[in-house]
Amino acid sequence: MSTVVNHWINGAEFVSTSGRTSPVYDPALGTETKRVALANQTEIDAAIKAAKDAYPKWRDESLAKRQQIIFSFRELLNSRKGELAEIITSEHGKVLSDALGEITRGQEVVEFATGIPHLLKGFYTENASTGVDVYSTRQPLGVVGIISPFNFPAMVPMWFFPIAIAAGNTVVIKPSEKDPSASMWIAKLWKEAGLPDGVFNVLNGDKESVDGLLNSPDVESISFVGSTPIAQYIYENASRSGKRVQALGGAKNHMLVLPDADLELVADSAINAGFGSAGERCMAISVVVAVEPVADKLIPKIVERMGKLRTGDGRRGCDMGPLVTREHRDKVASYIDIAEKDGATVVVDGRNPQVDGDANGFWLAPTLVDKVPTTSKVYTEEIFGPVLSIVRVKSYDEGVALINSGAFGNGTAIFTNDGGAARRFQNEIQVGMVGINVPIPVPVAYYSFGGWKQSLFGDTKAHGVEGVHFFTRGKAITSRWLDPSHGGINLGFPQN
Ligand code: NAD
Repeated sequence: MSTVVNHWINGAEFVSTSGRTSPVYDPALGTETKRVALANQTEIDAAIKAAKDAYPKWRDESLAKRQQIIFSFRELLNSRKGELAEIITSEHGKVLSDALGEITRGQEVVEFATGIPHLLKGFYTENASTGVDVYSTRQPLGVVGIISPFNFPAMVPMWFFPIAIAAGNTVVIKPSEKDPSASMWIAKLWKEAGLPDGVFNVLNGDKESVDGLLNSPDVESISFVGSTPIAQYIYENASRSGKRVQALGGAKNHMLVLPDADLELVADSAINAGFGSAGERCMAISVVVAVEPVADKLIPKIVERMGKLRTGDGRRGCDMGPLVTREHRDKVASYIDIAEKDGATVVVDGRNPQVDGDANGFWLAPTLVDKVPTTSKVYTEEIFGPVLSIVRVKSYDEGVALINSGAFGNGTAIFTNDGGAARRFQNEIQVGMVGINVPIPVPVAYYSFGGWKQSLFGDTKAHGVEGVHFFTRGKAITSRWLDPSHGGINLGFPQN
C-alpha cells in the first residue's frame, strides 16, 4: 500500500476519509511512490475553520513575538533545507542543486518578512487640519488562501505565506497534487518554530478544494500561481465573491539577441534558461529571437553546449532531470512532432535520450528547433518543457513587435552590448520582468514578481512591499485634538 499524503490542520496531520486520492510519482523512476488525499467538503471546512479560529489570537500577537517565530522558522529552514530539496527532487524531478536553489529564493522572502515590524509601520501627520491629526495603519485580512503549481512546490508558497503570516493572517494552502509533500514538511517546520496551531494549514486536493476556498465567505484573499486558464478562472470566481485576488498565469518568454551581443554569454544563457528545471519554469526562455545574421553563428554554440548536458536522475549530479509526469512528457514531446509537421528544423532531438537514470523515468532530453514559424503551436503555446525554439527576424523593431504581439507578458531578455538599444527595449517591451544580458530576470524578494497580460490577473504582484500591501488593509484615522474650543455645530464640509 502506498503512503498517503494527508492534510495538516490545526497543527497536526489530519487523516483524510474522503476516499479519493491521486497518485504522486517519482519522475526519475517513473513509479507511483505515494498517493495524495483529495479533500471533501468536510475536510475543506475543517481547514478553513482551523484558520478562522486561530486568527483572532494570532492577529493580536505582538509584532515582536511574530518576528521571533519567523526568525526561528528561517533558522530551521536554513539548517535543514537539504531535507526539503530531497523531497522536491523525489516528487518534481528537478535536480537537487536546482531544488536547493528554489528553496534559497523562497527563503529570501522569509528573510524579508523578518522585517515585518518596519514594513507594517504606518504614517502620521500632525495638525493636518487645525487641531486634527491623521494617521494610517496596516491591519491583517484574516484567513488567506494560497493555491500553488507543481513547478515550484516550495518557492511559490514561500512568495506568499511568510508575509501573510508575519502580517497577522492565517493561511490555508492548497499545494499541487503532483508534489504535495513539500508543504507538509514546511507545516511541521512551522510547528517546530513555535507557530501556534491553526495559523498554517495544508489542504490537499483538486478542483473541489480550490472551489471550496473560492466559495468560502471566511476566506478573505486568494493568491494563485499556475496556468493561464486556471488563473483566469480563479480571478473571475474569487473576485465575484468579493475576495482580493492575485492570480499569476503562464508564460512564453523570449530572449532577443542583437548581432552585437556576446555570443558566448548568449549561448550559456540560452542553455541555463531554456533547459534548467527541464524548462518547467514560468521564467524559462522558450524562444530565442535572433536578429539576423546572428542565428547561424549562435546555433553551433548552443548545440555544442547541449552536447555536454547530462540528463538523468536529479540525485546523481546530472544537469537536467525528468519531466513531472508521463502525460506531461508526452505532451511536450508532441510539440517536436508538430514542429516537424509545421516545417521547422529540429536541430537537436531529445525524443530518444541517453539518460543516467531508470529506463522508466519521464525523460525528454534538451531539444532545439530552428526556423519555427510564428503561426505554429510550437511558437504560440506554452510548452513548459526542454524545447527551445529559434525564430529569425530581420531587425530589432521586428523582434520587439513580435514579442509584444504575444498573449503572455511574464519575462523577457535582450542580449546586446549597445546601451541605447537596451534602454529602448526596457521602455518599448510590454512584459512585466525584463532582463538586460540576464536571461531569467526574477527580481529579488524585496521587489515584486509578476507579469503582464495573460501572465497575471489582478493588479497586485507577489512578495516585496506589494506583498505586504496585498496581505493587509490600510486604515486611515483622523483624530481631533481634545481642545474644547473646537466644539460646537458646523454643517460645512470639514476644512482646515
Ligand atoms: P495548473 O494551473 O494546472 O495548477 C495550478 C493549481 O491549480 C494546482 O494547485 C491545481 O491543483 C489547481 N487546479 C488545476 N486545475 C484546476 C481546475 N480546473 N480548477 C481549479 N483548480 C485547478 O498549473 P501547473 O501545471 O501546476 O503549473 C504550471 C503552470 O504554472 C505553467 O503554466 C506555468 O507557467 C505557471 N506558473 C506561473 C508562474 C508565474 O509566476 N506566473 C510561476 C510558476 C508557474
